[in-house]
Amino acid sequence: MPQATAYAIDGPTGRFARTTIERREPGPTEVLFDIAYAGICHSDIHTARGEWGPVKYPLVPGHEIAGVVRQVGAEVTRFAVGDRVGVGCFVDSCGQCEQCREGDEQFCDGPGGTVWTYNGTGRDGLPTAGGYSSCITVEADYVCRIPEGIELASAAPLLCAGITLYSPLKRWGAGPGKRVAIVGMGGLGHMGVQIAAALGAEVAVISQTRSKEADGLRFGAAEYHAVSEPGTLRGLRKSFDLIVSTVSADQNIGALLNCLKTGGVLVDVGLPEHPVTLSLGTLVGQRRVLAGSNIGGIAETQEMLDFCAGHGLAAQVEVIGADDIDAAYDRVVAADVRYRFVIDTATFTA
Ligand code: NAP
Ligand code: ZN
Repeated sequence: MPQATAYAIDGPTGRFARTTIERREPGPTEVLFDIAYAGICHSDIHTARGEWGPVKYPLVPGHEIAGVVRQVGAEVTRFAVGDRVGVGCFVDSCGQCEQCREGDEQFCDGPGGTVWTYNGTGRDGLPTAGGYSSCITVEADYVCRIPEGIELASAAPLLCAGITLYSPLKRWGAGPGKRVAIVGMGGLGHMGVQIAAALGAEVAVISQTRSKEADGLRFGAAEYHAVSEPGTLRGLRKSFDLIVSTVSADQNIGALLNCLKTGGVLVDVGLPEHPVTLSLGTLVGQRRVLAGSNIGGIAETQEMLDFCAGHGLAAQVEVIGADDIDAAYDRVVAADVRYRFVIDTATFTA
């Protein structure tokens, strides 16, 4: 069995420590690849800290995974040894249900549902372990190809942050003539600004402060607003066709809805710990839409990777070593990351 060096946390207030885990010998339709980089998504933090409910500790998080193929099963034709590949938030699904047939494997209705990359249960009945590890074995159908133009370190975050913004921006028509606001410019948000601008929309950032304004404009935003300045959201009343909120903490959704034009759409992708309250008149009175979105399917994720390569887009990353994971978590929560921490697995053996 291939062994992986991994970093695991053993409880909601624990710290990351090195461990060894076993990966499957790749079956006929599977790929084993060496992980080069794993992004730190805020979802890793919500999960590891128990903010979303029960966790199977010890937990090896990581669902923004980029690496190079080491071994392929006998029936795998799409990948060869040495290929640059990535895996996102899930590693398996039933493949038969309506959602899977539509290419929405992230909403699998089959037995066991979508198999999440970590904190899930694989078809082998064993707990899944994510990308903070040196290698992983995955069904080839759940592996994406990383285009040549994108460095592996800056490609890793596309497997979650990239697709999570690409999917709703496409679905809800971000493009020429549309005014689109991205709320929260962290890992997800900074990809949203780039992708929405590349799709041809007129993009605004709504951030807590002006500290990232120059970056927001460099990523392609035409406007930048800071809610720390009194009256900001009131001043944006009925301004946008589409708003995508990536905020990871509690916020006033009603105030954001009021920034939508009549019939506008607010897509929330942020998943804070607590429920929100909302006055429904804010929706009803202007025929507004409040929607959610959850990553994207495999085909759409490949489409997003190719779109990013074609438009010269990638994540802006801060590469860290294994010993920095705990500190990086605190910095993400403090919105102090530019704009995604990515763990370099070469530091695992140091
Ligand atoms: P992140 O890098 O921490 O970015 C979140 C941003 O939200 C921060 O950069 C900050 O932006 C803003 N923010 C943070 N605290 C805030 C507060 N108290 N009030 C207002 N704004 C605040 O996190 P991420 O990795 O992008 O993930 C964002 C959220 O999406 C998380 O809840 C995560 O679990 C969720 N998520 C969902 C999906 C999905 O498929 N739906 C996928 C991945 C992640 P500014 O500094 O610009 O204000
Ligand atoms: Zn994620």
